[in-house]
Amino acid sequence: MVKSYHPETLEEALKILVETHCIPYAGGTDLMVRYRQGPGLVPNFDRPVMFIGHFPELTAISEKNGEFSIGACVPYRDIIRHPHTPEILRQACSLIGAPAIQNLGTMGGNICNASPAGDTLPPLSVLDATLTLRSVSGERKVSFLSFFTGPGKSILRDDELLTCIHFRLPHFTVEGYRKVGTRKANALSKIAFAGFMLKEKDMLSDVRIALGAVAPTIVRSRELENRLIGQPVAELAELMPDLLKSYGKLIQPITDQRSDANYRKTVSLRLIKNFVLKEES
Ligand SMILES: Cc1cc2nc3c(=O)[nH]c(=O)nc-3n(C[C@H](O)[C@H](O)[C@H](O)COP(=O)(O)OP(=O)(O)OC[C@H]3O[C@@H](n4cnc5c(N)ncnc54)[C@H](O)[C@@H]3O)c2cc1C
Repeated sequence: MVKSYHPETLEEALKILVETHCIPYAGGTDLMVRYRQGPGLVPNFDRPVMFIGHFPELTAISEKNGEFSIGACVPYRDIIRHPHTPEILRQACSLIGAPAIQNLGTMGGNICNASPAGDTLPPLSVLDATLTLRSVSGERKVSFLSFFTGPGKSILRDDELLTCIHFRLPHFTVEGYRKVGTRKANALSKIAFAGFMLKEKDMLSDVRIALGAVAPTIVRSRELENRLIGQPVAELAELMPDLLKSYGKLIQPITDQRSDANYRKTVSLRLIKNFVLKEES
């Protein structure tokens, strides 16, 4: 039998976490698959589990003076429906799983699972998100990209919960999101792309590009973005061969049951090129 905790408050949950080393879960859509044994069988958990999807601090969305905060346990359905959710994130959430998964699954679970194919990771990366991690000993805020250390690995400690995801609402003139998958629903990404550009007076004033599922962690390079920033829009095409060569070194996909490495790399580079040369929408 699996021991299951249902604490009443976040403080109680943090105490249980440190005392029992239990596995926290929100929607359970990743966890149940990871520990499944077969049809009709109870998942094979090696530790107690703890439900954390009901605390007010973890289930609210707020917007104040352009600062947007999403509780780690808000289900995708509510993120999609919120009027201030940036379009790039709404699109990513709308393409996750199918409605049943969107009703249960959370962005906190997607982030803590730390899969390079997590669909919310590229948009949160270009939104320059910050994560709040909490334990009994306090709270720390970390930048989104510094959270991930490898496939399925992050800096989240065993005594910590991700409580909130924050970012400033974006103001760009061009944005793009693409999920390349086998089907429209219930398909994990072969490649996920997110990008923002600010084109002002025929100059590229800012650009942010992130790709998922094509390297051990999200691909985002401020160094390569800086090569484009400040350049006249009319000259961007000339910069493409060198830029794509450099991105090619960062994009290190694997071949697996969903796709092969060569396809992933070719399409990723094409997505970057098409995005940078895209006209304002
Ligand atoms: C049929 C199906 C289709 C899917 N399709 C997609 C898809 O298209 N794209 C995609 O990206 N994913 C997909 N997934 C994976 C999954 O639904 C998502 O990753 C989802 O966001 C996980 O959220 P959850 O709340 O269910 O996580 P859970 O399963 O509850 O947790 C996942 C992991 O994170 C930890 N965790 C969860 N919340 C916290 C927290 N606040 N603090 C600390 N640790 C935490 C848990 O301990 C666990 O290790 C799919 C899954 C299924 C079953």
